[in-house]
Amino acid sequence: MGPVWAAILDHLAKDSIGNCLTRSEPTRIGRFARKPYPGGTGPITFETKFNPTAVFHSASSPFDCIIFDLDDTLYSSKTGIGQALKRNIDDFLVERFGFPESQAPTLRAELFKIYGSSLVGLRSLGYDVDADDYHSVVHGRLPYDLIKPDARLRNLLQTIKQRKIIFTNSDRIHAMKALDRLGIKDCFEQIICFETMNPNLSKSTTPVVLKPSMEAMKIAIDVAGVDPRRTLFLDDNAKNVAAGKAVELQTVLVGKTVKSKEADYALESITNLVQVIPEIWFSEEDDQMISHIKNEMDSIPSATTVGA
Ligand SMILES: [Mg+2]
Repeated sequence: MGPVWAAILDHLAKDSIGNCLTRSEPTRIGRFARKPYPGGTGPITFETKFNPTAVFHSASSPFDCIIFDLDDTLYSSKTGIGQALKRNIDDFLVERFGFPESQAPTLRAELFKIYGSSLVGLRSLGYDVDADDYHSVVHGRLPYDLIKPDARLRNLLQTIKQRKIIFTNSDRIHAMKALDRLGIKDCFEQIICFETMNPNLSKSTTPVVLKPSMEAMKIAIDVAGVDPRRTLFLDDNAKNVAAGKAVELQTVLVGKTVKSKEADYALESITNLVQVIPEIWFSEEDDQMISHIKNEMDSIPSATTVGA
């Protein structure tokens, strides 16, 4: 068994994932479609839970690179950070532009619905919003202690040998703080963030470029230097996933059990990655291992033959 498989199995053995392994409906599509696993309790063993000769067609990983959104993708929306972020946006609308406090939540929701973010919406409507000022309030006041170190996620990321890149609409300071709090800052080779997409943003009404715009997606692919058809893109926002599919990325909708139209996979939580998309970990070495196992099994006479 290759070291990658050994690491994955070691990781799995440490965590309780029985429910995920026993889902009754496959959540993936494509040529790697997986059969439901029988049984659901007891120790996880290679033979009963991860028998590649029974489950997969032999193949190398179809992915050269994994691109991860950050907020609500690598940590749960239930941390309270998302709620705090919304309150901070409301405060920004009230403090900087004098909107009535009672109307700020509705305005914020409308801006998000129409433009994808309050900053993009305000700039598009002609408001002179300084991006640094916006981020200093909206992200700068966040209670970062709500984000806890996630050793399980770190273990998972460390088993992924492909390039790993963060692609977030958030500013770099926020991205670094959140990744640092999670304890996974060193797991990524690149961070594509607000500043990457908006390198020359002045204080004028220059449009802000963010996901899910096509321009943002193209910038990300260009900066990352990836073939989108061999790149897996994970995001909790269905619009971002749709934009990813439009530029030919392989897409994963995170935080949902049901796929959106443009999602190739649905992932309830990032910690379900191994169960839902195991082909990330496939390698030439594992191909050889699978072939070896097949040959070994073929060389053993069946019980009927022995008894005859
Ligand atoms: Mg997100």
